[in-house]
Amino acid sequence: MLSWQRAIWSGLADASRLPHALLLCGPPGIGKRQFADRLSIRLVCEREIACGACRACRLATGGNHPDILILRREEGKTEITVDEARGLNEFLVLTPHLAPRRVALIADADHLNRSASNALLKTLEEPPAGSYLLLVSDSPARLLPTIRSRCQRLVLPRPTKEEGEAYLKEREVPDADVILALTHGAALQAEAWPRDTPAMGARLMASLEAVASGAQSPLDASEAWHTVDLDIGLTLLVGIAAGLALLALADTPGPAIPAEWTARLRALASRLDLGQVFRLWDEALEARGLATAPLDRRLVWDRLFMLVEARL
Ligand SMILES: [Zn+2]
Repeated sequence: MLSWQRAIWSGLADASRLPHALLLCGPPGIGKRQFADRLSIRLVCEREIACGACRACRLATGGNHPDILILRREEGKTEITVDEARGLNEFLVLTPHLAPRRVALIADADHLNRSASNALLKTLEEPPAGSYLLLVSDSPARLLPTIRSRCQRLVLPRPTKEEGEAYLKEREVPDADVILALTHGAALQAEAWPRDTPAMGARLMASLEAVASGAQSPLDASEAWHTVDLDIGLTLLVGIAAGLALLALADTPGPAIPAEWTARLRALASRLDLGQVFRLWDEALEARGLATAPLDRRLVWDRLFMLVEARL
């Protein structure tokens, strides 16, 4: 179990007293899916604790328990469709095979399309006896309000700096403190990212410095970023922009920023005015929110680098 989820896990009600629909939310990369998987196992476990040893737990851990259904967006698809949601409804009304209850887990509920959401309402309004629905969401605001209001919300925590660093060090991720700061504590995201991400962050800082000082034009600087993974590049930029904004407002880039970055951030901040800093932060956040949509990377980076162009 992830160390930062222990308290919330042990505070959960007994399996038989859990609400029929739970919305597990929190930022990406903090282990919501792991928590949901474990909770689904707890609901079918013979001892109702996710013991890991009983037959139900073994089946569920192997992904073979007949009373657990996991619904996720299919590879290459942008949505979870109404047919998939209807399949889930049908699954939940059946009598359990082995466990005392049936569990459906929607791994990325943010991608339910409107008809799929409407189909789910039926189950949420009148949950079949012994049925449990777990929804996992990065941004619950994207769900239909009628779905949100019928689920009990469980907000999962980010790891503290110490918990996150311990997690990454155990997995031999180098520069754990830097990468954790760059992902805002999203330890699982940090683990999945390429090992050279901190170096990429340093290169991004250098590109921003070059443009802000007038040593390089925005379009020349942008050139190097067209081929970079957009989600990672934009997350790095959001981190840098957030640090710049905090420096401007509170004279500190935030407690999570490693010391060696602070001096560079200060130097960069001294070349930008407040308007530039906040536009950069705003637009980087917005672009990252759209990063799964087909964007023209060249345009995205051109525009972002133009925001920090040296003032004449
Ligand atoms: Zn068990």
